[in-house]
Amino acid sequence: MNKGLLVVVCGPSGVGKGTICKEIIEGNENVYLSISATTRNPRKGEVEGIHYYYKTEQQFERMIQNDELIEWAKYCDNYYGTPKVAIDNMLENGKDVILEIDVQGALQVKQNFPNCIMIFILPPSLLELKNRIVGRGTESSEVIQSRLLAAENELNHINEFEYIIVNDQLQSAVSYLVSIITAEKCKLKRSTIIIERMCGDDIPSDW
Ligand code: 5GP
Repeated sequence: MNKGLLVVVCGPSGVGKGTICKEIIEGNENVYLSISATTRNPRKGEVEGIHYYYKTEQQFERMIQNDELIEWAKYCDNYYGTPKVAIDNMLENGKDVILEIDVQGALQVKQNFPNCIMIFILPPSLLELKNRIVGRGTESSEVIQSRLLAAENELNHINEFEYIIVNDQLQSAVSYLVSIITAEKCKLKRSTIIIERMCGDDIPSDW
């Protein structure tokens, strides 16, 4: 069995990457969406262990010290990180793993897992991005400002990514992401096991 793909999905807050990723895993047992740890407070409707693992600063810092995270970053005054548990297992068992993380984390993953697929989601425009963040009504105006600043910084790193998807229409963004994953799976370099088996086979006598 070939190992699963590690797919990094990045993009500014409010761009809709969470919604795209949720669509992808819906009914697809072969794709696992990593659940991050964070010190930010749960939003209304968010559930421990489904949206995030909610931690205190102290608990999060202990996770860093114990080397329990693949990557971590401080984003708008809160810690966010990807727990190692589950990811290795999923990849070894041929499942694709999606990390929906910020740019700082994405760059750490790229460094440590050079075979990962780096995808950046763009909004149709910056104005639309601002409208989406303000419109969801989950953040104070101070937090919105700091997320917009973070977005500017994230856009400056766009050249670190291999693929860009503009999220102007959810279903088309989802199908672009599915297509990228499918194309990556067909890459010769990712199909070593099947190639070894084929090329190692003896030609049948009735060939
Ligand atoms: P939110 O607070 O809106 O859920 O997430 C804020 C930002 O943190 C988003 O850009 C999101 O992708 C990012 N994020 C979520 N989980 C992680 C993680 O595990 N690591 C990193 N580096 N960023 C994360």
